[in-house]
Amino acid sequence: MCRHLAYLGPPVFLSSLLTDPPYGLLRQSWAPRDMRGGGTMNADGFGVAWYAGDGVPVRYRRAQPMWSDTTLPELAAVTRVRAVLAAVRSATVGMPLHETAAAPFAEGRWLFSHNGVVRGWPDSLVPLAAGLPVRDLITLDVPTDSALLWALVRHRLRAGAPPGEAVADTVAAVAAAAPGSRLNLLLTDGTTVVASTAGHALSVRRGPDSVLLASEPFDDDPAWRAVPDGRLVVATTGGLDVRDPSAARRSVPTAREDTR
Ligand code: GLN
Repeated sequence: MCRHLAYLGPPVFLSSLLTDPPYGLLRQSWAPRDMRGGGTMNADGFGVAWYAGDGVPVRYRRAQPMWSDTTLPELAAVTRVRAVLAAVRSATVGMPLHETAAAPFAEGRWLFSHNGVVRGWPDSLVPLAAGLPVRDLITLDVPTDSALLWALVRHRLRAGAPPGEAVADTVAAVAAAAPGSRLNLLLTDGTTVVASTAGHALSVRRGPDSVLLASEPFDDDPAWRAVPDGRLVVATTGGLDVRDPSAARRSVPTAREDTR
């Protein structure tokens, strides 16, 4: 399964998040440590997006393994970011290998990633897809489960749902329609990060004014905390809520866990 990461905080070089850490996304592209049976490596593309000033995010995506891209190290060494979402992809069997299938998916300030698989794809999601505007379906980024999940989340965001609710509602609807799916989602607008844990790993590392969420810790810093399965994380640089998703769907935090 893919691996993803989101960072919010003081400016840091992209390299400090992607390529320098001993178990960073670069290393995870060929030697992830916690795939939980979902594949062995993440060589089917990658993507990085960050916010340049107050504008919309800049995306850099490729359909090749992160380790084989010669531009990324140069870019990462000189690019300072306050907010980033990045992912390496392990394509689910039968899904296309293309740059547009690599997260992050994007619209406006929003960036989205999915680590997992929708069981019974595509038939299991036909009823949910039928609730989307036809335009969204015929302009889907790529025919993959992750792209449809993004369309479902985006539809809720466009309707004005808060990001936590958009993610929690989508996870609940897809889990009901396609039981056994793995639905670790990651969504950010550059100031808030929302993440779900449903079948896959996620860890959090907080600093004094930063927060980092990642499928797996990228170093052995004891500050990393594993997020239990079945949670919704809503994080800013100022705080972190780890919620029961059903409560998040009512937008009421039930647990405030210090995951520092
Ligand atoms: N199923 C998605 C894809 O094929 C995500 C894969 C993953 O998490 N490994 O793109």
